[in-house]
Amino acid sequence: MSEYHDFYVARLAEHSTVPTLLCGHCRSILSPKRIFANDGENRYSLPCDIIGLCSADDCGAVNCCDEAMKGAEQQHYENRVAV
Ligand SMILES: [Zn+2]
Repeated sequence: MSEYHDFYVARLAEHSTVPTLLCGHCRSILSPKRIFANDGENRYSLPCDIIGLCSADDCGAVNCCDEAMKGAEQQHYENRVAV
């Protein structure tokens, strides 16, 4: 298990048609493939349920995505209502 003392909070991109999470450090887009539940034997020692790893070469920050994912669900819902 890896120990991380520093992590960032992912942000939800505004004005995007599809909910998109941004790295809380460098603001690059977090690939959905790099976002996963913080659970099981690979669990990170972070106080959050959803982890997003930044894939930017010079960043590689560990992001906590809990709040952003809640926002994404909300945004998704509102988009559907709007259509
Ligand atoms: Zn980053």
